[in-house]
Amino acid sequence: SRVEEDKELKEEEEAGLEAAELHFLIFSTDSSPPPPAPFEQRLVTTKTHQITSYYSINKEEVLGGGRFGMVHKCVEKSSGLVLAAKIIKARSQKEKEVVKCEIEVMNQLNHANLIQLYAAFESRHEIILVMEYVDGGELFDRIIDENYKLTELDTVLFIRQISEGLQHMHKMYILHLDLKPENILCVSRQTNKVKIIDFGLARRYKPREKLRVNFGTPEFLAPEVINYEFVSFPTDMWSLGVITYMLLSGLSPFLGEDDNETLNNILACQWSFEEAEFVDISEESKDFISRLLVKSKSWRMSASQSLKHPWLSDRALHYRLHHKVHNSFELVTK
Ligand code: ADP
Repeated sequence: SRVEEDKELKEEEEAGLEAAELHFLIFSTDSSPPPPAPFEQRLVTTKTHQITSYYSINKEEVLGGGRFGMVHKCVEKSSGLVLAAKIIKARSQKEKEVVKCEIEVMNQLNHANLIQLYAAFESRHEIILVMEYVDGGELFDRIIDENYKLTELDTVLFIRQISEGLQHMHKMYILHLDLKPENILCVSRQTNKVKIIDFGLARRYKPREKLRVNFGTPEFLAPEVINYEFVSFPTDMWSLGVITYMLLSGLSPFLGEDDNETLNNILACQWSFEEAEFVDISEESKDFISRLLVKSKSWRMSASQSLKHPWLSDRALHYRLHHKVHNSFELVTK
């Protein structure tokens, strides 16, 4: 009868809702940190021994190519621990000093959202950093992967962890200065856990220090970097704004026809939410970005403020975002 049918329908609906609720609680707002490095924090000093006496470096397995060399998977012979070895070409004393700065910075950072350093080896032509290894690929690949639809809630979880990592760095008085999706690694393909890598440009904050950069990827540069003005904690927060914009839309907020146009867009702080990709995005996320992509350094949110912003902290909002995803999924499958 109609009454029974209605009752069944209602029960089904309720069961579905319960499952959705459960999914929400277990997965969607999983705000636990990623697993820590599989070793205690170590104060690494550079050794001059042969690295191959202690580690097997898998030359075939290239994890990535960077500005200065290659990153390979490697195994510590004595423990079987799987690690990543970043081989950096450094011949002159000056080049070696730069890499030692990277080591010094990593030695000071102990946080689950920041890749940890395990050992370092120096030879005549190179320095090798042995560090915690993660397996999930670059966050950048998730942005461009057609098969992997990033939801707004996924982005919340990613950005919150990047903010946590930045908050720790800034608390230790260290600037990253090279934050971009290529330098955020996923811990695995199943979860939304990430860690920040590449401390090659990172340095201790000095109140009156300017920064010279090579203009490899101008899309992520903050106005003060282009203008060769003082860099500071808000310089990293600008980059966080660019990353958030990219994760939400798949678009690069300042990208022009060529580098020159990109640089001009950044200096004019010319960006908007006009693109169609932003139609379905929450007002809170737009407010979040608007408080980071601010030309004047002193008006940008700090890492601690960003963590308190409703977009990252309001659970009722996250619940709504989750249901929005759930509903649109139903629409598609019907
Ligand atoms: P560079 O400073 O030369 O740009 P990165 O530190 O950015 O080098 O590393 C280059 C690439 O190698 C990264 O984008 C990433 O794909 C890979 N990679 C770096 N570190 C790790 C790691 N700890 N675990 C897994 N892959 C890594």
